[in-house]
Amino acid sequence: MSPVDLSELLKRYFGFDSFRPLQEEIIRAALEGRDAFVLMPTGGGKSLCYQLPALAREGLTVVVSPLIALMKDQVDALQSAGVPATFLNSTLDAAEARRRLAGLYNGEYRLLYVAPERLMLDGMLDRLEQWQTEAIAIDEAHCISEWGHDFRPEYRQIAELRFRFPDLPFMAFTATATDRVRADIVTQLKLRDPAKFVASFDRANLVYRVLPRAQPQRQVLEWVNKQPEDSGIIYCSSRARTERLADMLNENGVRAAAYHAGLDKKVRARNQEAFIRDDVRVMCATIAFGMGIDKPDVRFVIHHDLPKNLEGYYQETGRAGRDGLPAECVLLFNASDVAKQTGFIMEKTDEHEQMIARNMLQQMVHYSETRDCRRRSLLEYFSETYAEENCGACDNCLEPKETFDGTVAAQKMLSCAFRIREKSGFDFGLNHLVEVLTGGDTEAVRKWGHDQLSTYGIGDEFGRNEWKAIARELMRLNFLHQTPGRMSVLELSADGIDWLRAKTPLELTQPTVPKTKEKKRKPRVGDLACDEALFDCLRELRRTLASERGVPPYIVFSDVALRHMARDYPITPAAFGLIHGVGDKKLEEFGDMFTAEIEKYLEANPRKEF
Ligand code: ADP
Ligand code: MG
Ligand code: ZN
Repeated sequence: MSPVDLSELLKRYFGFDSFRPLQEEIIRAALEGRDAFVLMPTGGGKSLCYQLPALAREGLTVVVSPLIALMKDQVDALQSAGVPATFLNSTLDAAEARRRLAGLYNGEYRLLYVAPERLMLDGMLDRLEQWQTEAIAIDEAHCISEWGHDFRPEYRQIAELRFRFPDLPFMAFTATATDRVRADIVTQLKLRDPAKFVASFDRANLVYRVLPRAQPQRQVLEWVNKQPEDSGIIYCSSRARTERLADMLNENGVRAAAYHAGLDKKVRARNQEAFIRDDVRVMCATIAFGMGIDKPDVRFVIHHDLPKNLEGYYQETGRAGRDGLPAECVLLFNASDVAKQTGFIMEKTDEHEQMIARNMLQQMVHYSETRDCRRRSLLEYFSETYAEENCGACDNCLEPKETFDGTVAAQKMLSCAFRIREKSGFDFGLNHLVEVLTGGDTEAVRKWGHDQLSTYGIGDEFGRNEWKAIARELMRLNFLHQTPGRMSVLELSADGIDWLRAKTPLELTQPTVPKTKEKKRKPRVGDLACDEALFDCLRELRRTLASERGVPPYIVFSDVALRHMARDYPITPAAFGLIHGVGDKKLEEFGDMFTAEIEKYLEANPRKEF
């Protein structure tokens, strides 16, 4: 195949003008009949790497995929692009399965999705031979490895396929980066001198932020309301919390649902479906949620609690922004999580396991506390170097925090907490502590005689809000501990007492809000400015069309495609055909309806320039 032909197929079926990094190389290796191992982050565009070769060759390409729920959406998406594809799994009734089998014998399909357990059913391997199988693609290949986070014993059966079809090209795809899993995939699948492709793990369109978790419900609600039309996932460490958060959001008018392994299977499936179809906007979930969804337009992922390790965090945040448009990843960090998780780790009986878990947790904490670029520290974890000084898309690069020698400030605050307790025999809240430090004349100060303390009024170098910021940082450092509940008080912790004794120099974040320097903001990677009002109209049209067809909206068109329409205002079939994401089939099926909508919009609204 000449390069022109591949690009032509890319536009005809998928409506795209160019390949993403490595896609073309991978496709060429596949067409040469080589085995391939592909490591590419979520959203990198792995599916295309086996779908396009399937269209370029004659016979059938078999795709092994672990998730039955996902298969239907993938096949629907392919069919809507005009690709003859089908799947076989246990959800089909006998008549439908028979129809599909007949089609396979007739050579009507180019792609067949199957679950691994299906492969070993009676006669399946013989059938694959009769159906002229020419290539095998194994998606989510890490499922074969016990070292992976998603081991599926059924995947071991794929090795049988290799014995049966020693000469067919096998392609393995994964987004799991650990060396051990990688090596395991290659050996378990018995790949023959595979061409190896490792894409960068940098997800340039994702913005990474860490916020101190203070009032999580309010913080979550604020964040969710900041992006009022967008889908997002909120990961929580406990099942109960997913339900509480979902209730809280619903009470505040945000369509939210919960997802965790403790829910009834039917409820889980229903909630997931509602999320994929945009009937529910926010999913509050444990990490049980995620691998089963290919939703491209998840615009934010919030972690309410500290993940156990960076690999997990990276994979979970990776579910945001698959479509390449900007998306936000927010981690709510509180030192109490570290203590809690350390506690769980201590309960492990195996010392080696304990050590590994502690190590991972430490890397996670480092990521959360670093003042360096978050992207750089994430990529370093995957042994990738990030050369840019400023990534322009993490909180530390966007709003650099200045530090100062906080030794004296910390000493004043901690000894003030110490004196208060010494005098009154119990602890007080943050506000009172700050009043004493700054020499406030409140009723409580007088009532408890705290104006008699040696630490009364010694903190006039900062205002009240600044002292509060310092207190929060001292909490994060575990020197102060805030008790839970409404009558919350600040306790000086054992660590705080130790530090007061040793007084090792301490860097703190400058508590004054740094004046935002009027520097030019880098444009966000993936940003696609468009006529937002038209975008909303097109979204509405997409929603209607999708529900008529019983498919998720993104299968009709992606947000990227709609944004291109709302920039270029195509009103002729020819112009519409040029839009990103519009292939031949979609032009034919949807062209008239979308161009008519755009024309109608332009009658009432002026055209904008982008
Ligand atoms: P992965 O399986 O690696 O997570 P997908 O195959 O699901 O990624 O693709 C992620 C998104 O990227 C999809 O919405 C897909 O349509 C889009 N995509 C893939 N290849 C291209 C391309 N060459 N140009 C534009 N968009 C692409
Ligand atoms: Mg995929
Ligand atoms: Zn950065």
